Amino acid sequence: MVEKCLLCGEVRRKGSVSLHKFPRDDDLRKQWIKFCKLNEHTDDVRNIKLCSNHFKEDSFMGYPCTGYPKLLRSNAVPSLYFNKKGKTLQELTLLRLFLLLRRD
Ligand SMILES: [Zn+2]
Repeated sequence: MVEKCLLCGEVRRKGSVSLHKFPRDDDLRKQWIKFCKLNEHTDDVRNIKLCSNHFKEDSFMGYPCTGYPKLLRSNAVPSLYFNKKGKTLQELTLLRLFLLLRRD
């Protein structure tokens, strides 16, 4: 199965987009869950990932360079709904529901 971003369906592409698992830290994970409008009690986020499009540049360690997966800071919280293709929040929400429904 191809790994995709929950919010925008972005797949991992070398050098441009990285996918990030939900954090283990409870408080931090709740912030991610809230951002994604998921339910912390019913949604299993262990297999869900978000792409780097939803984090500000200062959420990442160091500077982007070739061949990275970007390293997300341990306290980073997603804050951007729009991806680089300019999808609207409504489109992203529909896509997210679609991905959730398809989840095994
Ligand atoms: Zn994304």
